[in-house]
Amino acid sequence: MTPDVRPLVAGNWKMNGTRQSLGEIKAMAEGIDGPLAEHVDALICPPATLLYVATALCTDSQLMVGAQDCHHEVQGAHTGDISAEMIADCFGTHVILGHSERRTDHRETDQMVQSKVEAAHAAGLTAIICIGETGDERDSYETLDVLMRQMSHSIPDGAMADNTVIAYEPLWAIGTGLTPTPVDVAVVHAFIRAELVQRFGAEGKVMRILYGGSVKPSNALSLMSVDNVDGALIGGASLKASDFLAIYSVYEGLVA
Ligand code: PEP
Repeated sequence: MTPDVRPLVAGNWKMNGTRQSLGEIKAMAEGIDGPLAEHVDALICPPATLLYVATALCTDSQLMVGAQDCHHEVQGAHTGDISAEMIADCFGTHVILGHSERRTDHRETDQMVQSKVEAAHAAGLTAIICIGETGDERDSYETLDVLMRQMSHSIPDGAMADNTVIAYEPLWAIGTGLTPTPVDVAVVHAFIRAELVQRFGAEGKVMRILYGGSVKPSNALSLMSVDNVDGALIGGASLKASDFLAIYSVYEGLVA
C-alpha cells in the first residue's frame, strides 16, 4: 500500500459475460456496500455490451463500472470501436487501456495507448494504463527497461493521480496461475513509483499502482500488503462475485 492512497480493486471481464451474468454484478454491488467502501474503491469492467445496464444496476451502489478499451477519436468511421465519450455517456467512470491482450491482439503501440489515454481524460474518465513484461523479457532481465519504455510513451504529460491509474501486469502471470513473489512485486512497484515521482512530482507520489496477474482470494492478502501496491486488476477471479468480494475483503485487515 502507499500512505494516503485509497486502494482500488478492479475487475476486467474481458470478452466474458452476457445478460445472464448481470446477477454477479448485482451481487458485487450489494457486497461492496459496507464500511470498507469508505476506504477502498471497487470497479468492474464488463464487455461494452453490458456497460449501460451494468451502470444502471449500480446506481445506488459504490461499485463503479468501466470499460475495457476506447478509440482515440470522439466519433467517426471506425466500425466496431467505441469512444471515451460513449463510455461516459453510459455513466462509465474508468477505461482500461493498453492491456497486454490489446497490445498483442490488436498491435497497439505505446503511442496508440497514449492517444487513447488522452481521449479518456478529455471525456472525464479515469484511465487504467496497463504495463508489463513478457516471460522472455523477464528471463533476460529487461523488465525495468520495458516498463520504463512503456511508461514514458503510454502515459501522457499532464496525467494526474485522480484521472490515471497504472496497472503492472506481467504477461507471464496473466491467466496462468503464476505470480511474482511479493519481493519481486515490491521491487517493480518501487521502480514504477520512483519513475512516477520523477516525472509527475507530488501527483506521482499518490498515483495508484495496481498489481494484476492471477490475483485470487488465496494470494490477494500477500500481494495487496506490498508497499506501493494500491490495489488489484483482476481477470478470471472477477467473474464470480464471491471471488471478487473475497479479494476486496482482504482490505479489512489492511485499512484502518
Ligand atoms: C488481466 O487480464 O488483467 C488479468 C490480470 O487476468 P488474470 O487475473 O486472469 O490473470
